[in-house]
Amino acid sequence: MQSPGEAGPVMSEALARDVVKEIPPKAADLSAWYTAACLKAELVSYSPVRGCVVLRPYGFGLWENLQKHLDERFKATGHENAYFPLFIPESLLVREAEHVEGFAPEVAWVTQGGSEKLTERLAIRPTSEAIIGVMYAQWIESYRDLPVLINQWSNVVRWEKATRPFLRTMEFLWQEGHTAHASAEEAREETLRILELYRDFAENVAAIPVYVGRKSASERFPGAVETFSIEALMPDGKALQSGTSHDLGQNFAKAYDITFVDADRAIKHAYTTSWGVSWRMLGGLIMVHGDDRGLRIPPRMAPIEAVVIPIVRSNDDRAVEASRATAERLRKAGFRVRVDERDAQPGWKYSEWDLRGVPVRIEIGPRDVDAQTVVLARRDRERDQPGQRQSVALAELPGTLRELLEDIQRSLHSQAKAHLDAHTFVAPDRAEFFRLCKERAGMVDIAWCERPECEAHVKAETTATTRVLRALDEPAAVCLVCGEPAKVRAYFAQSY
Ligand SMILES: [Zn+2]
Repeated sequence: MQSPGEAGPVMSEALARDVVKEIPPKAADLSAWYTAACLKAELVSYSPVRGCVVLRPYGFGLWENLQKHLDERFKATGHENAYFPLFIPESLLVREAEHVEGFAPEVAWVTQGGSEKLTERLAIRPTSEAIIGVMYAQWIESYRDLPVLINQWSNVVRWEKATRPFLRTMEFLWQEGHTAHASAEEAREETLRILELYRDFAENVAAIPVYVGRKSASERFPGAVETFSIEALMPDGKALQSGTSHDLGQNFAKAYDITFVDADRAIKHAYTTSWGVSWRMLGGLIMVHGDDRGLRIPPRMAPIEAVVIPIVRSNDDRAVEASRATAERLRKAGFRVRVDERDAQPGWKYSEWDLRGVPVRIEIGPRDVDAQTVVLARRDRERDQPGQRQSVALAELPGTLRELLEDIQRSLHSQAKAHLDAHTFVAPDRAEFFRLCKERAGMVDIAWCERPECEAHVKAETTATTRVLRALDEPAAVCLVCGEPAKVRAYFAQSY
């Protein structure tokens, strides 16, 4: 399918709606499948603003569930939410040299307010280290003020030419945590605590298995001492960096003058961290779990856990009332449920809710009304697969539905884990390593020297980069690429 940038955003959505009557097969063209799935499931629409998408209510529901689960975890680990300005004066942004150099090509600037030309340009935040650093310098005076543990839910802007819903947009939603500590050890502990929190969220809520570790120097956040990330594998063999946690050392504290009087009366610079997950994670969730019929949303993330569909026969519409009563009962038991009473064939509705990825469909027909039963159909299995549909007594519905949703959550994770395992390779030799990277086979694991020039060589030959690094298991190992002594094990992959 044509990329939105080329045809203009409004036109390409019309194009998608018109040309793609059904979603194209996922395996044949992941990119076309992905765009069609996002649009047809009504997660997003392209907007008249180049590079910006509209998050529709169903997509926003998905985002709200991400927020809810992460926010609970942030608060349980002592963090609080706050909000900082969208605009950052240029003089503040440029204080940390590496940081500004890293972000300069992507910054959008405000140069005029009303008819007045500004004396100082204002950056629209690409990230908020600068503005938050300036405020922390004012708030922190003594070691008693530390640690400061703040998170912000916000939008950021990074100038982009291409548009891909959730994966590449000019404006996107995210959360950014910013913390300040009295010692390097505490800052590192915080960085790793958040990394583990992200891993737990990805695996146990989004049902996306990930590799976890630190990034190479070239993949590090501009201005950070060390960056850690969680990396997921997409069905096309490309990695998706899905959450990052940065140990900023004293770099930002020095640039923004964040100092404190320690218990020994000495004035010291604080140690800071920052960390973020954006709506990119939703793009990963869509690609990892979806199938040829559309989305398959893990129950813990699903805006609608179950959709109730009444089956109305001629002059027998008792199923409508029974559906409403069933939905009401389930809502009271804490489920997120919707009844689809639209005037349309049940089969058409089944396809539509399958496309939108609702984990469970509850069918109620006249015979079910008589028997006091319902039929449950699970979205994670193929339509003709054994156990895909089951009849359940009404009295047992809440308990059975609860168990079924948990089973779907587990099954989506284990399917994704099987894919990751099947596409992770320990490369036996150099030639095979290059072949696997070039052919986008998946995550390719080697002993590596950690030299930037070695990484640059692999990137030039194959477009693959290091994803995450971990400790070496054999101290005597040599780099599979260049033969120099190895320092780490590294996963290489092409990436989004
Ligand atoms: Zn090497």
